Amino acid sequence: MRPPASRLERVEAWGMSSASAAYVYRPTSIEGILEALKEAEECSIHAAFKGGGNSYGDAFQCAEGVVIDLSRMTRILSWDPATGVLECEPGVTIRAAWQHTLPDGWWPPVVSGTSFTTLGGALSANIHGKSSFHAGPIGEHVLEFDLLTVTRELLRCSPTENSDVFFAAIGGFGLLGAIVRIAIQMHKVHSGLLEVEAFRTRNWQSTFQVFENYEKMADYLVGWVDCFAGGRSAGRSLIHSARYLKPGEDAHPEESLRVSAQALPDTVMGWVARSRMHKLMRPFVRPLGMRLVNAMKYAMSRREHGTRVRQPLAKFNFLLDSAPNWKLAYQPGSLIQHQSFIPKNEAMTVFEKIISLSQGRGLVPFLGVLKRHRPDRFLLSHAVDGYSLALDYRKTRSNAEDLAALIRVLDDVVLESGGRFYLAKDSTLTPGSASRIWPQETVEKFVELKRRLDPSGLLQTEQSKRVFGDFARLSWDERPQVESP
Ligand SMILES: Cc1cc2nc3c(=O)[nH]c(=O)nc-3n(C[C@H](O)[C@H](O)[C@H](O)COP(=O)(O)OP(=O)(O)OC[C@H]3O[C@@H](n4cnc5c(N)ncnc54)[C@H](O)[C@@H]3O)c2cc1C
Repeated sequence: MRPPASRLERVEAWGMSSASAAYVYRPTSIEGILEALKEAEECSIHAAFKGGGNSYGDAFQCAEGVVIDLSRMTRILSWDPATGVLECEPGVTIRAAWQHTLPDGWWPPVVSGTSFTTLGGALSANIHGKSSFHAGPIGEHVLEFDLLTVTRELLRCSPTENSDVFFAAIGGFGLLGAIVRIAIQMHKVHSGLLEVEAFRTRNWQSTFQVFENYEKMADYLVGWVDCFAGGRSAGRSLIHSARYLKPGEDAHPEESLRVSAQALPDTVMGWVARSRMHKLMRPFVRPLGMRLVNAMKYAMSRREHGTRVRQPLAKFNFLLDSAPNWKLAYQPGSLIQHQSFIPKNEAMTVFEKIISLSQGRGLVPFLGVLKRHRPDRFLLSHAVDGYSLALDYRKTRSNAEDLAALIRVLDDVVLESGGRFYLAKDSTLTPGSASRIWPQETVEKFVELKRRLDPSGLLQTEQSKRVFGDFARLSWDERPQVESP
């Protein structure tokens, strides 16, 4: 037995590197989710949840299974401008959330580089922002959520109620149930503007020095790294540090807090329509073109160095949204990201090695983004007291094998240094990687919770099968074990 063929759709990874056919349901209520789960059970196929579909790899894919897309559960259930507590359904996007609360002086406590992420997807991945080094991941700002489990329980979870589930379902990638209601503490702001400072650095050493100098005073820190630079210039970067304005610093907060004051420009560079930007970018998204783009960006950063400007919160945080569909510039081909999280003492050596290995194999990442992080209490945490480097690689038919081989080598370098990966960006981890990323007792704890809340292992994604093994069939001992390098 199969669900109706009319529900069959192609579900593609955001980075376009994989796609699979699945029976897609788009419920607008808990009853609708229950119906979709029942359909999967009756057909003896797996099910997975999907938010806005912004995970780079297969975190929401369920080949030939049921994909339950929660992006239509978009109701804001309550908003209290006095306390800044927002209560909503999981399909509310970060964009819809800030548009609702900013005029009252509240901004999401943590945001991703795109505002199209849903809050359900944000919690399930436990997203981090450029503020990760002091604000932590989004989970730390969640007051409570309701989790609908395969066992048909509606569990209220908070740091004190069902806390084991709270700390595992946040960052649990939808494998323990559907997050159907969220209460989150927004962050008080006194202006819709940030004060942004730019620093141009010459090499890895000065890049890390700027991060160290500014992590105590900045609210946001992010570095763009020129991955084409080598030798003494390796690690040269343009770093932006930003801080919220204090009360009184913005003479007209009522203006900057308006949603219209946050609008991203309709054109890029004043003349290219945002929606057509990817077409203009396409000829450059090739090794030679990107070498040129990176070199030009670095050269032009000379003018920005040392400047201090005020920028709308949305413009600073969601720069990537200003060119929607920019990923299409990677076609023909797709985009995969390798984001590794490395303890601070090892970070410089490891990132230097990663870039030089990539350069040595002629597979230079087109974009490199450096962030600072701190550890958190979530079970499957991707954060460490250290740094992450997110690298965008173009995957094509002709380089696919070489790229896969490179990524395997990079993964070993990361894991040997006590590093971690972030499943929202992953599309390449090899089978059984979970036991190399997290301590065995952590994975066992997660598997135990999974058995309690989803005894039949109904909820599985292509990624979970790859990284953890098949929850339905395998006991821990039978899980694919990867030999240590
Ligand atoms: C351009 C771009 C920039 C990005 N920048 C950042 C960044 O700066 N920091 C960062 O941390 N991430 C970043 N991301 C990744 C993104 O924030 C995460 O992948 C996030 O999970 C996407 O949310 P989504 O709503 O699209 O969820 P999806 O990608 O659809 O799903 C993500 C996971 O959550 C599960 N899920 C979704 N909704 C629910 C629910 N209601 N209940 C249970 N499980 C659910 C899915 O099964 C899946 O495993 C970026 C992505 C893009 C495309």
